[in-house]
Amino acid sequence: MSDDLDKAFYNLTVHQRNVAWEEIALLKKQVEALQKENDDYDALLERLKERLTATANALHGGPREMSLHSWHDLAEIAERHRDFIEGVAEGDCAYNDNCPPNAGTRHYECDVCRARRALNPDKEVHDGPAETGTDG
Ligand SMILES: [Zn+2]
Repeated sequence: MSDDLDKAFYNLTVHQRNVAWEEIALLKKQVEALQKENDDYDALLERLKERLTATANALHGGPREMSLHSWHDLAEIAERHRDFIEGVAEGDCAYNDNCPPNAGTRHYECDVCRARRALNPDKEVHDGPAETGTDG
C-alpha cells in the first residue's frame, strides 16, 4: 500500500479494518475471476484466429512466406464458391447412376455428384434422381 493508504488504514478502528480486509478479500476474488474470464476470452480468440487463418488459407491457397491472407473477404469468397458448386450440382450425372458411393461402380464419381455430395456431405446418395439440397 502507499504511505497515504497506510496512514488511513492505521487510523481505522478494529471493526473498520476487519470490514476493509473483507472488502479487500472480496475484491481479490473478483479480480481473480475477471483474470480467468479474460484468459478464457484470450484462448477463444486464439482458436478463432487459427480457424480464420485456416479458412483463409483454404480459400486463397497457402500464404506467401512471412505473410497472412486477409480475413475481410472470406464470406464473399465462400459464397462465390458455393454458388459455383450449386451450379455444377444442378447438372445431370455423367453416368446416369448418381455415382453411388461404395456401390461397386466401375467409374469415378462425376463432378455433378461430387458437387451434390459437397453440398450435402452427410446425406446418403442412392440410385435415382439426386436432390441438390438447395430447396431449403
Ligand atoms: Zn455422377
